[in-house]
Amino acid sequence: MTTMKAVVFKGPNRIEIEEVPKPVPGPGEALIRITATTICGTDVHIVRGEYPVKPGLILGHEPVGVIEELGAGLENEYAVGQRVIVGAITPCGQCFYCLNGAHSQCGGALGGWRFGNTINGAWAEYLLVPHARANLALIPDKLSDQDVLLCPDIFSTGLSGAESGNIRVGDTVAVFAQGPIGLCATLGAKLKGASLIVAIDSNPHRLHIARHFGATVALNVREHNPVPKIKEMTDGRGVDVAIEALGQQETFEDALRAIRPGGTLSSLGVYSGKLVAPYEAFYAGLGDQRIVTTLCPGGKERMRRLMAMIEHRRVDLSPLVTHHFALDAIEEAYTVFSEQRDNVLKVALYPDATRMPAKTLGDALVEAL
Ligand SMILES: [Zn+2]
Ligand SMILES: [Zn+2]
Repeated sequence: MTTMKAVVFKGPNRIEIEEVPKPVPGPGEALIRITATTICGTDVHIVRGEYPVKPGLILGHEPVGVIEELGAGLENEYAVGQRVIVGAITPCGQCFYCLNGAHSQCGGALGGWRFGNTINGAWAEYLLVPHARANLALIPDKLSDQDVLLCPDIFSTGLSGAESGNIRVGDTVAVFAQGPIGLCATLGAKLKGASLIVAIDSNPHRLHIARHFGATVALNVREHNPVPKIKEMTDGRGVDVAIEALGQQETFEDALRAIRPGGTLSSLGVYSGKLVAPYEAFYAGLGDQRIVTTLCPGGKERMRRLMAMIEHRRVDLSPLVTHHFALDAIEEAYTVFSEQRDNVLKVALYPDATRMPAKTLGDALVEAL
């Protein structure tokens, strides 16, 4: 039996590198060799035991790779050796939910999210891709692995916050929290044609990047209470659309208070426990507000569109990929990311360390010594 290296979830706060069987693709499935992947805030929830997955599962849902082997039925669609990404969400395209347009809920609630949730994920040398025909997206030749690394999840999710909020040209928008997803939501608000874009966070470095990504005002919550400030900037009304990108009661509530009557709260955060909508912010249920939630849109057509935005230089996500590690250094990479050390935004992981960008390979070697 051939084996591969993978990062396996062993239980709360325990991940380990192990040799596991290399998967063999069945009909309609593809095996890709992972060339780069990354760690998501959701993975941190999983490792901490806040979002339950089965021990023994390989984590990671943001794959960049090369087609290694094709299962039956894909011969005329793809070829071994092609460079591809796969969305974090892998819809089948054929079930009740997919055919009703709720692709991320494929098969049932959150069902489109399979990698590193219900099936083995991308923190490994190889990844088995289900429903490959709907999900393998070819990477344009001009783009590097690093260029497209955030398409499978972060860019798709962040942008969807602006899309689901149905931002119109000239709208006023507030984006609560400027982590990687919030920053992509800020970028999405700009792409959708918002006028005033208020970025809110407590980290000055992240607020600085938010300005670079299109925020017209950056508010540090350590210095300002964001809701009265937003009311001041919008003739006392509140913004047309607020995007919540953290998943906490406080930011949800602020986002609700920040929208005008008839406005939209577009929620991207992953919440736990009970979420409360205060009576007065909810206008007793009579404020004509819309509250919408979105799980990362996936599928190959979504991925193609996102990569086209990068290829044609409409967006540049490279400032978000701040650190590079060999997959073997997962523990260190996880610590840097989960503890937000060293102004980290996203860390790239490479199962094959020789694929790391040259300028950081030296740094990583020094760290490894
Ligand atoms: Zn994620
Ligand atoms: Zn489906």
